[in-house]
Amino acid sequence: MLTESQLKQLQKANYRMFGKNMHSAVKLCHWCKESIKTGEKRVCYKQKFYGIKSHRCLQMTPCLPICNLGCKYCWRDQSYFTRKWEGDIDKAEEIIEGSIEAQRALLTGLGGVEHDKRCLEEAKDPNQVAISLDGEPTMYPYISDLVNGYNKRGFTTFLVTNGNFPEVLTRFETLPTNLYLSLSSTSEKMFNQLQNLVSMGSWNNVQKTLELFNELKTTRVIRLTLIKGINMIEPEKYAELIKIANPDYIEAKAYMHIGASINRLEFEHMPTHDEVKEFAQKVADYSGYTISNEQKESRVVLLKK
Ligand code: SF4
Ligand code: SF4
Repeated sequence: MLTESQLKQLQKANYRMFGKNMHSAVKLCHWCKESIKTGEKRVCYKQKFYGIKSHRCLQMTPCLPICNLGCKYCWRDQSYFTRKWEGDIDKAEEIIEGSIEAQRALLTGLGGVEHDKRCLEEAKDPNQVAISLDGEPTMYPYISDLVNGYNKRGFTTFLVTNGNFPEVLTRFETLPTNLYLSLSSTSEKMFNQLQNLVSMGSWNNVQKTLELFNELKTTRVIRLTLIKGINMIEPEKYAELIKIANPDYIEAKAYMHIGASINRLEFEHMPTHDEVKEFAQKVADYSGYTISNEQKESRVVLLKK
């Protein structure tokens, strides 16, 4: 699916592609590295909010080049995205083994910089997976096996979906520990202008996922990616959608002007932490949630029921 030159480009961007069919990848998250370098003095907000260990987190995707949307705020290089699978597909078990091996190979690079020995040793035995590196993971046909396989190995599993494949969420053998729904639009018009730029997505399916969310027996999180001047409007509409889904948590997070998104949005679209917090408070007031945590550095605020 990916050409030689695309693979080279991704390697340059520190992705480690693996598997027979090369559609899966691991990349050391900035916070995983920070935690290893500082001995857990600097960790990601998910460690603070949910208690996972950043240095033991494996950030991966089983479907790097596959996504049906084209969100303006996406930091990924969408030039290599395809909208459907072509060719053979690796099975979940191969991907799990390959991801752990790839993570260990990437970690060897940290041995040469100042680091905390305990954290680096522990990192070689990851126990948390973030299935969110690239692409839309629910488009991977064996996603249930993948999550189940990591769960069986004792991992905590965080999966982020764009909500366009609600039927997939009904077929998980075991659900991810934290299931994230990315919600960045409050209407079909906004969805089409901000996320559905390639017209392969469906606002109707996002609605279906919101309805289904309430019934899923796991920790359910709605992620709002807030873009100043674009979707930081009408907090009451977010609240209406949130009430349908009834999530355990809401993460209100600033759009970050990084990666390929700088070609689609301006620096001014990135709200400050205070602006995120102010908007999150309005959403909380309308939806009956309360602000329970925050991390200024990542410009993120956690709302809890
Ligand atoms: S949970 Fe997310 S932010 Fe935290 S270390 Fe893993 S990939 Fe990075
Ligand atoms: S759904 Fe995710 S991967 Fe796909 S374009 Fe949007 S932000 Fe990027």
